[in-house]
Amino acid sequence: MPLPTTPDFPMHLSVDEARRRVLELGAGQRVAAESVGLDHLYGRILAEEIAVPEDLPPFANSAMDGYALRGSELPSDGERRFRVAGAVLAGASANVNFETGECVRITTGAPLPSGADTVVIKENVIVDGDAIIVRPSEHAGANVRPAGEDYPAGDIAFRPGVTLSPSHVAVLAACGRTHATVARRPRVALFVTGDELVPSGEPLGFGQIHDSNRYSLGGMLRGLGIEADPVMHVRDDPAALRSAFRNAADECDLVLSSGGVSVGEADFLPRIVADFGRIHFWKVRMRPGMPLLCGQIGGALVFGLPGNPVSTIATFLVLVRPALLAMQGAQTAEGRVWRARLAKPARKRHDRCEFLRARLDVRDDGTWWATPLEKQGSGMLRGVVDADALIVMPEESRELPEGSVVELLPLPGLA
Ligand code: AMP
Ligand code: MG
Repeated sequence: MPLPTTPDFPMHLSVDEARRRVLELGAGQRVAAESVGLDHLYGRILAEEIAVPEDLPPFANSAMDGYALRGSELPSDGERRFRVAGAVLAGASANVNFETGECVRITTGAPLPSGADTVVIKENVIVDGDAIIVRPSEHAGANVRPAGEDYPAGDIAFRPGVTLSPSHVAVLAACGRTHATVARRPRVALFVTGDELVPSGEPLGFGQIHDSNRYSLGGMLRGLGIEADPVMHVRDDPAALRSAFRNAADECDLVLSSGGVSVGEADFLPRIVADFGRIHFWKVRMRPGMPLLCGQIGGALVFGLPGNPVSTIATFLVLVRPALLAMQGAQTAEGRVWRARLAKPARKRHDRCEFLRARLDVRDDGTWWATPLEKQGSGMLRGVVDADALIVMPEESRELPEGSVVELLPLPGLA
């Protein structure tokens, strides 16, 4: 049965409006939180506030290998002799006492002996038997890392929504944590639809092509730490599509499919989503990628991406990725704005927002330049393979001269 001629859902949204909606939909379908060990936290989205329990570093210590002493005893002119009263190495368990005119040999990370406030580096002194000779160029307070200089006790190191990098995980470890509470990874089903598709590795019959979207989508999901499950080829058969979508919607947070979302006679997806759930919106004023459909079946957000390989990639980056990040409460869901100058003029003949495949170069003066590539067809993977980013050419622009500042959407692998 065709869809009603007057749809009860918005159609032909602008890219900005579609993004606003998917962010809202994602945020409205937040996944639960779970506790994860440090080894597996990289790339996860923090779901708790991290308060620093104790000063970091926990005690004043030496930043260099050298000699710890009292800064007030440093010579302002001439040289001065300090007797070496003892040594304190990193990991030392006891304090070392020293008197006026004395110093303590110290290594990087060793606790400063009480009374010391300065370290003179090894390279700057002359060793003379059991003493050192210090020249007048040293500064009181130098080469000491005070307790708490990195993160003081009670400081809020990170807030929920942070994407944990290796250095974030290092701070958690430094705070003595073994686990952190992060958003559970969204469960995603991935369907590639189309009677013409054959798994790579198998021979092609007449009219058939190898399914490549499974790998571009699967790879971009993996880039977000998500292993799609199930991953399935579904034929252009309403019954097969119905059962695939229905089952997946019960198990998953998001159902992602490619193909069958346009108005061709084998494009069943809009009807199926409308029957089992609802369509949030259909078609976005973007190129490539206009036929995209966003809907809902039960608790699962559904994205039907157009099957053209470049459209699939562009719609994933523009709309699916932000939704998946918003589901996890990520601060980065809206994405950072990247800009560069156009190295060649860009033109378009339509009113949609165009995502032009482009190479990026940095020139000697530090400015970034984006060169639109020749191969811009939505079925041509070569254009994306050679590109570093997509130039966002707004709806209202028809022609952008060389040197114009344009917004960019980085392609995976750029960073
Ligand atoms: P559709 O969106 O189903 O109309 O498909 C649009 C174009 O994308 C057609 O040329 C399809 O053959 C192609 N296509 C669809 N799915 C895939 C896929 N998984 N891998 C490669 N090309 C595809
Ligand atoms: Mg198709």
